[in-house]
Amino acid sequence: MQVTVLGAGTVLPAANRSSSGYLLRIGQDEILFDIGPGTLSRLLAAGVSYRDLNRIVITHLHVDHILDLVTLLQAYNATPGWERTAPLQLIGCQGLAAFVDQLCAVFGGIGPKTYALDIVELVPGQTQFPGFTLEAALTGHTDNSLAYRITAEDAVLVYSGDAIETPELADLARKADLFICECSFPEGTPTDNHLTPHGAARLAKAADISHLLLTHLYPATDDAIVAAEAATVFAGTISVARDGVVVEVN
Ligand SMILES: [Zn+2]
Ligand SMILES: [Zn+2]
Repeated sequence: MQVTVLGAGTVLPAANRSSSGYLLRIGQDEILFDIGPGTLSRLLAAGVSYRDLNRIVITHLHVDHILDLVTLLQAYNATPGWERTAPLQLIGCQGLAAFVDQLCAVFGGIGPKTYALDIVELVPGQTQFPGFTLEAALTGHTDNSLAYRITAEDAVLVYSGDAIETPELADLARKADLFICECSFPEGTPTDNHLTPHGAARLAKAADISHLLLTHLYPATDDAIVAAEAATVFAGTISVARDGVVVEVN
C-alpha cells in the first residue's frame, strides 16, 4: 500500500500545501481520500487522470475536503471526445447523499449523465470493499466527521481527517503502520475542533503506532516546531506532510 499526499494544507491558501487530498494505491487500485480544492491538479501531477478515479472516500463536508468534487463531476460531463461510463462510488459520512443532491441543484451541469453515481454513507464500524477493509470512527470535529482505518496487503493506514482528541480515534489508530493525523496549529493556539502537536502525539502514543505523519497545517504553522512539540510526547517516527510526499505503508 502506498499513499501520496496531494494536499497537506487547509482552507487557507499556501504555496506548498493545498487543501486536503490523499491518493492511496492498493495493488492496481487507486482510491482518493478527500477532494479539497486543487486536488485534481495535484492528482494529475502524481500521474493519475481524473478519468480513472472509481472510488472516493470523504471524511466530512467542509470546503477544504470536498470542493473539487464539483469540478470532478463537471469534468465528467464536459470532457471533449470522452464519456464516463464506469460507475463512480462516493463513500463518506452521514449526510453525503443529500449534500451531493444539493450541489447538483446549485451547479446545473454536474449531475451524472452517462454513468452511475453510487453513494455509500458510513457509520462507525467496519465495511468490506474490494481489496480493502475500511473502518470508520467519529472524530468530534463536526457531528458527522469520520476518520478511517484502511487495512490492505497486511498493512494498516489511519487517516484522521479533521479531528479532536477522542478515545474512539485512538482506538481506530491502534498499532497502525502509518497514522496521518491532522495538526492544524502549534501548541498554545486555542482550538476546540482541531488538534495541536501534543494531542496528535498523545493519540499516536496511546495507539502505539509506528509512524506519525502530521498534516493539515495552517500556513502559519511551522513544520519544525510542530515536529519538535510532538516529539516531546511520542517517541516513534514523526514527519510533517508536504504536497507530493509519497509514503510506503508496510
Ligand atoms: Zn480541514
Ligand atoms: Zn473540517
